[in-house]
Amino acid sequence: MTTPHYIDGRWVEGQGHDCISVHEPALGLPFAELMSASSAQVDQAVAAARRALPAWKQTSAAERAALLRGFAEQLGARREDLIALQMRNNGKPRHEAEIDLDDAVATFAYYADLAEQLPAKNRDVPLAVPGFTARTRLEPVGVVGLIVPWNFPLVTSAWKLAPALAAGCTVVLKPSEVTPLIEQAYGQIAEQLGLPAGVLNIVNGKAETGAALSGHNGLDKLSFTGSNGVGSQVMRASAVQCRPVTLELGGKSAIVVFDDCDVDQAVEWIVAGITWNAGQMCSATSRLLVQDGIADALLARLQDALETIQVGNPLTEDVQMGPLTSQAQWLKVAGYFATAREEGLKCLAGGKALDRDGWFVSPTLYVDVPQSSRLWVEEIFGPVLCARRFSSEQQAIAQANDSRFGLVATVCSADLERAERVADALEVGHVWINSVQAVFVETSWGGTKGSGIGRELGPWGLSAYQSVKHVTRCLE
Ligand code: NAD
Repeated sequence: MTTPHYIDGRWVEGQGHDCISVHEPALGLPFAELMSASSAQVDQAVAAARRALPAWKQTSAAERAALLRGFAEQLGARREDLIALQMRNNGKPRHEAEIDLDDAVATFAYYADLAEQLPAKNRDVPLAVPGFTARTRLEPVGVVGLIVPWNFPLVTSAWKLAPALAAGCTVVLKPSEVTPLIEQAYGQIAEQLGLPAGVLNIVNGKAETGAALSGHNGLDKLSFTGSNGVGSQVMRASAVQCRPVTLELGGKSAIVVFDDCDVDQAVEWIVAGITWNAGQMCSATSRLLVQDGIADALLARLQDALETIQVGNPLTEDVQMGPLTSQAQWLKVAGYFATAREEGLKCLAGGKALDRDGWFVSPTLYVDVPQSSRLWVEEIFGPVLCARRFSSEQQAIAQANDSRFGLVATVCSADLERAERVADALEVGHVWINSVQAVFVETSWGGTKGSGIGRELGPWGLSAYQSVKHVTRCLE
């Protein structure tokens, strides 16, 4: 049993109702257990964050920047342990776990730089009317609750923690019950760096703990990353308090391939967009739109590529795709395979759970999927790609935009003018042109429509934790 909760600068045992088993998905076996935090412990964490706020928001931007750099360095110092834990608990292949770690390090380093630039943002505002002066102050929003999922545990929490601390907020973080050990590193680093007690609190638990935090009347803001179902409950709880939320939700993103593309190159981008993290990505490009002229050649090549992917335990050599991270996710994806059979979809690759220990499924391709199919419309969160054909640019744009989600999209074309035009027409938060899904801390993350509210990363990620104040003085 581990001691998982970091409240007011101390590690404490959980007093909640839920016993959480932490699993190794490649084996389907548990390797750790912990008790969830109780509602009373969530209260203690929020109260500690409230007590810590006045002093923390008075720290200089330079002091906060130095601490954020400390987080980046200490993540680096724990590199091997954190990579190993992600491989074991998430089932990520090594190179993916390494990229997640690098992303978290880059995020803390980036917000350290932005924190240092903060004083220059508090500036005089030129007024057209004489007799007055005005100045802007960017103040921290206050005490923020941060709730995150399991698919990129180090990363989704870094995208919230680093800008919140940079802005001068104090936080209560609730990691996912599927991956509750990885983010303990943030508490250990806070302790090691001497972050004042209460500035960063971590409470672990399932829905009950999450609901205790998201409905807490001591928060000034809630930032949530997760499913649309839970996101809507979190938004409702915040509506009761009339308090701001950031929501990073699901997706059903399109990859649009025009017939002037190199087939092999396009297949590489398509495969990466649906098999990275075994397809458990909010940004998975799970709807392939391929132009008529290239469709037959591309789908045949894609079938080959998906069938030859090495699926297995990430702790063994040469594995390209690991298992699904939880049994619940494995059952959910298997349910979509059953739906595909009921709907009579044409399967070119995969379409089944693997008959072995652990929560493995095969990379899957369905073709000529009707727009009414549940597999075309719903977020599956697994390595399941659905394909349709198109003839014209307008048709591609219309089909890509025909979704209740709007997170990301990819456009592949040798005609760069066309690619840019299509990118501009897509109703999403981020578009890649002729690229894998490279995410840079300087650019924003977040979606339109049902994919969420607000943006993370870049200066927008910092603004999410800032409140704008103006001070106007009459000179007469
Ligand atoms: P989830 O919604 O089930 O859980 C997310 C978090 O909410 C977990 O910490 C969970 O314990 C907590 N929670 C559960 N019930 C709650 C409640 N009633 N009140 C408050 N908190 C509660 O999502 P998941 O299965 O962990 O993650 C997968 C989802 O996350 C997918 O839909 C995916 O698209 C989305 N996601 C989005 C982004 C993005 O940036 N847009 C990034 C990663 C994942």
